[in-house]
Amino acid sequence: MRYDVIVIGAGPAGLEAARAAREAGKTVLVIEREARAGGILKQCVHDGFGVIRYGEKLTGPEYAYRTLTAAKAAGAEIKTGTFVTKISKTADGFKVETTSRAGMASDESLSLILATGCRERTPRQVDIHGTRPAGVLTAGACQNFVNLKGLLPGKRVVILGSGDIGLIMARRLTLEGAEVIGVYEAKSTPSGLERNLRQCLDDFGIPLHLKHTVTDVYGQKRVEAVAVSAVDDNMTPVGEKTIVPCDLLVVSVGLIPENELHESLGLKTAPATKGIDVDQYMMSADVPGLYSVGNALHVHDLVDYVSESAATAGRDVGKRRERNLIKTETEGLQYVVPQYIDASALGEKTIFYMRSPKYYKKAVVRLYADGELKQTKRVTNVRPPEMLRIPFSFEAEDSVRIVLEEDGV
Ligand SMILES: Cc1cc2nc3c(=O)[nH]c(=O)nc-3n(C[C@H](O)[C@H](O)[C@H](O)COP(=O)(O)OP(=O)(O)OC[C@H]3O[C@@H](n4cnc5c(N)ncnc54)[C@H](O)[C@@H]3O)c2cc1C
Repeated sequence: MRYDVIVIGAGPAGLEAARAAREAGKTVLVIEREARAGGILKQCVHDGFGVIRYGEKLTGPEYAYRTLTAAKAAGAEIKTGTFVTKISKTADGFKVETTSRAGMASDESLSLILATGCRERTPRQVDIHGTRPAGVLTAGACQNFVNLKGLLPGKRVVILGSGDIGLIMARRLTLEGAEVIGVYEAKSTPSGLERNLRQCLDDFGIPLHLKHTVTDVYGQKRVEAVAVSAVDDNMTPVGEKTIVPCDLLVVSVGLIPENELHESLGLKTAPATKGIDVDQYMMSADVPGLYSVGNALHVHDLVDYVSESAATAGRDVGKRRERNLIKTETEGLQYVVPQYIDASALGEKTIFYMRSPKYYKKAVVRLYADGELKQTKRVTNVRPPEMLRIPFSFEAEDSVRIVLEEDGV
């Protein structure tokens, strides 16, 4: 079949992009590999989702349900149990090849939205010596066991990494009756959101050991213990190892956008975001008509902003033919999205999503266009784990630059 737009992935990003495109009058197909739409939120049973978007604290499944209901009500066609294996360019759009129980098939569209989410870094991507017995899980896999399958994968738990999913699982496992011995973080500062540190560790008396890592796993069939050690500023273990008996090691060491599909179009992955470079409507800077949204584009800390940027893409589908792209230059930032600005289509506001490489009590973000300072925004308590979202209003013809620096310098 042929559609105006095909969306790959029925998580909150894909569903919201589909809703917005459908409401703009486009024919839309959403393709999802899992049996049910909703993405990773199906297993996030804790609350705290949707405070910005809906003004209420929803659980992950409730947020996913609202997004799915809205996409269906708008008339988006959703195919589940269907895995996209390949995407390619055609003369006027894209071809999407899939496999499902019904066999292999393909559909075509004028525009394509990648909403494939992110995956976790695995224990194999961090250096831990020893065996790989049962009982070494990523935080997401552990969340899946506990929340979707009703299984408790361990009773004495060590958590490596202070990412949000690890913190949330520290609380979840405690509530389910397991003993969480501690969270070990190699960096000198925690990686998770401050609210998760308070609500998931402090409220349950779970210790956070900064500048510590797990160096060894012991056990043949099942984890019996791990060794933990202090690390220096280069994260190299120093000093004595302490043996901590446990039957579960949960690894929460970061998320990476899932991006094999864009690579099949020959697109490069941006080193800082691990997604593709886009303009302010989330359209690829290199392939017109291709969009990337949600965690596939860059890892967001709040699903509310996943939905926001996905809706921006959905509304834009099929609107622009010519673009005047300007690269967003940056100073003092880890990254900024969008990496390009279509100067011919600047709206009332352009939203920039960015991360700082450093901690600041007080900082200032300045936007320069065509060499002139256009807008300034003061921000407080800036932390690398927390994304900054700043709307700027400006016009530009040939240059855009965003600078983050300490306030008052
Ligand atoms: C394990 C885990 C736990 C998380 N917990 C939280 C949390 O507690 N709170 C929070 O705010 N955020 C959490 N996040 C971040 C969360 O991913 C975002 O908040 C939000 O779900 C991102 O939405 P998304 O639509 O971009 O991605 P997802 O929700 O991941 O949806 C992507 C969808 O694309 C589908 N897909 C991928 N590749 C293909 C393909 N080739 N063919 C067909 N379908 C495909 C996937 O099956 C999935 O349904 C978590 C992330 C992970 C990985």
